Amino acid sequence: MKRILITGGAGFIGSHLCERLLNEGNDVICLDNFFTGSKDNIRHLLDNNRFELVRHDITKEYFIEVDEIYNLACPASPPHYQYNAIKTIKTSVLGMINMLGLAKRCKAKILQASTSEVYGDPLIHPQVESYWGNVNPIGIRSCYDEGKRCAETLMMDYHRQNKVDIRIVRIFNTYGPNMDLNDGRVVSNFIVQALKNEDITIYGDGSQTRSFCYVDDLIDGMIKMMNNKNGFIGPVNLGNPSERTILDFAKLIIKLTNSSSKIIYKPLPSDDPSKRQPDISLAEKELNFKPKVDIEEGLIKTIEYFKKKI
Ligand code: NAD
Ligand code: UDP
Repeated sequence: MKRILITGGAGFIGSHLCERLLNEGNDVICLDNFFTGSKDNIRHLLDNNRFELVRHDITKEYFIEVDEIYNLACPASPPHYQYNAIKTIKTSVLGMINMLGLAKRCKAKILQASTSEVYGDPLIHPQVESYWGNVNPIGIRSCYDEGKRCAETLMMDYHRQNKVDIRIVRIFNTYGPNMDLNDGRVVSNFIVQALKNEDITIYGDGSQTRSFCYVDDLIDGMIKMMNNKNGFIGPVNLGNPSERTILDFAKLIIKLTNSSSKIIYKPLPSDDPSKRQPDISLAEKELNFKPKVDIEEGLIKTIEYFKKKI
């Protein structure tokens, strides 16, 4: 049994991680400032005496004794991370320094939830970990992209300089229950619009691609990465390589919800990546990672969740 700190534990991915690690018999401390997370996501865990909930902001120091840290605290949807761009950078950079300081002091292993956004609008397809990316340093997505890139730099420097035991995972678009209804990401927007028979809003012409991974598969990969004993620290891509255009994705949501929604087109936000697909051969080789949940199966579960929420 381990004592595990999960920052951002009341968010979408964090709440699934809290539940899984509790079920595996660990003590879990869920830390969150509730900027985009919600108590609803972890309410069912509050009665478990191995679960603790802490309201805290990782841009401020935090002292505790733990064996492992999963650092997920950071808004992930573009409207949320752009809402207070300076705060987003502070969370990624100051928050990372605080969590690495904590890991160093208590000799904990630390895993950073990085992102496919470190590749920016990629010129290499599918994206491999050795690709350094094509990121605009001064655009509206930069607070997130550059913040996460700097967090990776900090992870590597604390590893080289202070021998902190690190793991970096680069997460590609993930979806599932516990996503925020209003978080503005494509999966939640399209499902909620379809269930209400409202217009489905495609940004641009819908030819941009994304590859969607069901949350259970991602959690498997994250835990495998934390637990691997090969000395493998990453960075490693985690995601589902099944790629589709946003237009095809909209049509699939309409089909699965039996919706009468019409598709409408809105301007494409600047720096929106034109394509994205993880090359997961490194994760397969080092972690035996293989996503199992097919898109329709995952979306049906997610649609059921949103039906209850609306
Ligand atoms: P989310 O917004 O649902 O969760 C983020 C959580 O962090 C929220 O509970 C929020 O309240 C909390 N938080 C934000 N700033 C904080 C701060 N300063 N101090 C303490 N808590 C703070 O997003 P998510 O989709 O669950 O993403 C979790 C992590 O995974 C993020 O770091 C994100 O960058 C990364 N990620 C997610 C995806 C994805 O597709 N969901 C893709 C790539 C990377
Ligand atoms: N998108 C869209 N309509 C929406 C929300 C998003 O067409 O209502 C597009 C967005 O422009 C992007 C893709 O869907 O090309 C994925 O967007 P999301 O915000 O989910 O995540 P991203 O992968 O861009 O970080």
